[in-house]
Amino acid sequence: MLRFGMLVYVNGKFVPKEEALVSVFDHGYLYGDGIYETLRAYNGKIFLLSKHLARLKLSAEAIGLNLPLTLDKIGDALREALTVNKLREAYMRIQVSRGTGDIGLDPALCPAPSMVIITKPFKDYPEDLYAKGVEVSIVNTRRNHPASLSPSIKSTNFLNNILAKIESLKAGSYEGILLNWEGYVAEGTISNIFHVKKGVLYTPDLKTGILEGVTRDLVMHLARKERIPVKEAQIKPRELADADECFLTNTTVEVLPVTRIDGKDVGAGTPGAITARLMAAYRDEVTKHV
Ligand code: PLP
Repeated sequence: MLRFGMLVYVNGKFVPKEEALVSVFDHGYLYGDGIYETLRAYNGKIFLLSKHLARLKLSAEAIGLNLPLTLDKIGDALREALTVNKLREAYMRIQVSRGTGDIGLDPALCPAPSMVIITKPFKDYPEDLYAKGVEVSIVNTRRNHPASLSPSIKSTNFLNNILAKIESLKAGSYEGILLNWEGYVAEGTISNIFHVKKGVLYTPDLKTGILEGVTRDLVMHLARKERIPVKEAQIKPRELADADECFLTNTTVEVLPVTRIDGKDVGAGTPGAITARLMAAYRDEVTKHV
């Protein structure tokens, strides 16, 4: 029988998604003990692959996890995941967990990490989202303190973000924005945040306790190339509320305008001019690399 379905990479093999399983004794399942990356492929090429691999390595080091393959070989497996699934426009997720072991927190209980690569055809976000912008809400859940679980680790331990997402869904907003332990603006549940005031582009600095987004870095680089002044800073919620423009970034959504914060319009309530320039610059950059 001919089967058509996604093939998932599980510990060295591509298997149909129905057979893509890890043990209930995997410490990723039991304790959220693992790391991951989300990537996007355009026209058959994985965008900013080396940056994602570098961050995967940093996350692995931060939790004392030995990656099962070299970064080059992981890159090969990611490319193979596209080829075997015949995908050119794709969403990709690579996840490495501590692996299968007895109950208990000691990582030494798990002899080998589990590595999984999931790919899906990329479904474009509705153009309306970009044309109109989205609403965000500032949630009560605070971003993890960097001294307890550093947001710079791209960990599969996502409850902090999920609690924020539940609040944002209740508020009817597209994304929840978390403040840090001191009440400064940190980031979204799956995104970094930027705002524009009087022609200057602001984003929370790394000291705030955020994930250093690959897209965030590229957007700051593109802004500097466009001669837009960029400031990484500690940002108060009031400054965000008073912004002229605001937008979110991540690997899949790229640059997404925010036009309402907690029910109040940002600037004129439509995507701003600097946001539009950066959306275009980002898409140009993608076109150059794929
Ligand atoms: N912040 C958080 C908490 C995230 O989960 C993500 C992406 O998933 C981002 C920021 C954006 O990161 P990137 O631009 O590397 O996709």
